[in-house]
Amino acid sequence: MAASRAPTSVRLLAVSKTFPADAVREAAAAGQRAFGENYIQEAVEKIIALSDVLVGQLPLEWHCIGPIQSNKTRLVAEHFDWVHTIDRLKIAQRLSEQRPSNLPQLNVCIQVNVAPTENKAGVSPSEALELALAVAQLPGLRLRGLMCIPDPVLADGELDLKAMQALFSAVTALHQAFAKHLGVGSDWDTISMGMSADMAEAIAGGSTMVRIGSAIFGARTPKPSL
Ligand SMILES: *Cc1c(COP(=O)(O)O)cnc(C)c1O
Repeated sequence: MAASRAPTSVRLLAVSKTFPADAVREAAAAGQRAFGENYIQEAVEKIIALSDVLVGQLPLEWHCIGPIQSNKTRLVAEHFDWVHTIDRLKIAQRLSEQRPSNLPQLNVCIQVNVAPTENKAGVSPSEALELALAVAQLPGLRLRGLMCIPDPVLADGELDLKAMQALFSAVTALHQAFAKHLGVGSDWDTISMGMSADMAEAIAGGSTMVRIGSAIFGARTPKPSL
């Protein structure tokens, strides 16, 4: 690969938001197992509709990559395998309490905002460690790493890929710095970053899981028209 990374060190999350269950079924038939969704209600309908689908004898793996309001935590705890967007302890606590005891722990990432601008989601790097340490104590959750959705850095209207890579490298440095605080035996192994437009830069910057939507499923129609 261009970034000299072993192909198996980066997982592909196929972001299927706004696309119908049949599109997911097709991707699963081609061997894709992990899917990302942003809108909880829409996602749960698909998760239920596709509960019969197996990839390599395993059920599909569903990742919540959208913001979660308090009144949606139960649905998320009951239906998803991963949540990438933890940025408040209160939401993490509800997810932990509401995770059904017959399911494995819910895998979670802390959403971090390394270059805070008008994009409000995510905790600042200075708050992230405290949140991570608190989340690591919650019995229903399995803390896996960090996630970021950087605001695209533009230069002359074009994506400034060097600047994006610098942001990604900053998240990876943070991930490494936290590892020693979380201790050996933790499952701190995930850096969720990179979307269709900046996937190569994210991988070069240390991503272990890229979230790819439009490059797999095609352009999305805006959500209000759903
Ligand atoms: C929609 C979305 C993606 C996928 O974006 P594409 O540009 O279609 O690849 C990835 N991550 C998050 C958090 C998203 O909301």
